[in-house]
Amino acid sequence: MHSSELTQELRNLATRNGIVLFGVAPIERFEPMPPYYDRVPKGQDPRDFLPTAKSVISMAVPILNAALDVPARFNEMELEMYPDDTKSEWLEAVYNRICHYNQNDILLSASQFVGQHLLLAGYDSMIFPTESVHIENETERMAKSKFGYLSGPISHRHCATRAGLGEFGYHNIVITPQFGTRQRFSTVVTEAELEPTPLLDKPLCLREKCGLCLKACYKNAIFLRDDERFIDYRTVDKVRNDVIFIDTPSKTSPVRCRDRSNDGEQFIVRGDCLRICPLPKMPKNLSGRLQGIINDWRAGWRIGDERKKRTLPIDSAHE
Ligand code: SF4
Repeated sequence: MHSSELTQELRNLATRNGIVLFGVAPIERFEPMPPYYDRVPKGQDPRDFLPTAKSVISMAVPILNAALDVPARFNEMELEMYPDDTKSEWLEAVYNRICHYNQNDILLSASQFVGQHLLLAGYDSMIFPTESVHIENETERMAKSKFGYLSGPISHRHCATRAGLGEFGYHNIVITPQFGTRQRFSTVVTEAELEPTPLLDKPLCLREKCGLCLKACYKNAIFLRDDERFIDYRTVDKVRNDVIFIDTPSKTSPVRCRDRSNDGEQFIVRGDCLRICPLPKMPKNLSGRLQGIINDWRAGWRIGDERKKRTLPIDSAHE
């Protein structure tokens, strides 16, 4: 079967099973690419899982706008049915169920269906969990990993940018033209030669004109890769804003992000960095906190000034 015909069959199958975005990267796009020439870590390259791999499929399903925004707004409200000391857990459970687990279920099933279809067509494929994989005693062990946390086996975000679905934003998350930051991804690696999807041809992230995601992070956990206060092997002299971010322009301190509710402050609802992103259009129903940040931005606040004020110990890639 011709590669474009098989690609279309897979796209149709995925779409029938709930997938909304579908793209294909030829395996060559996993060689280091400009501008950062990041190398895929050993054990994360698609060819580590399937040495005969020729294509990588990236698929996405959206998070619904209200589903994402409600936990942050409710965090600021008195909820009559839930006492304050149960509100955090309840909001976290709501968020996980409708912004995480249901997308994961769809993505994993669709990956299996695509893999089965390829198997029947004569091609081996590999599918992946759609989120981090947790193990017993993770907190103790993750400090030993290079990034300070245990990740899933493959970076769905890097596969998505290489499959032409979007680019990284300053917040270290992938942005697509259709849903901005509000979607989740999965990946299928296959030895079938499929028709590639073109890479994005113009940037999406608004970069220095925006920076709202960095401001929205409660914990100042996101740093651009040229920030000299956050040194690790991914540091670069300059974040080039004139190119597509195939690799991430930023780094997230996993400890800061994970500990957002463990330092005695009021419970911090997760995801404000993606909630505030004004792509593909300015969100309508934000919490008072996020709306306040947007109002400051409209009044002239810019991330350049903020970056100078941010503090983080110099040796703190893992803190
Ligand atoms: S909030 Fe602004 S700077 Fe951050 S990812 Fe979105 S567009 Fe880029």
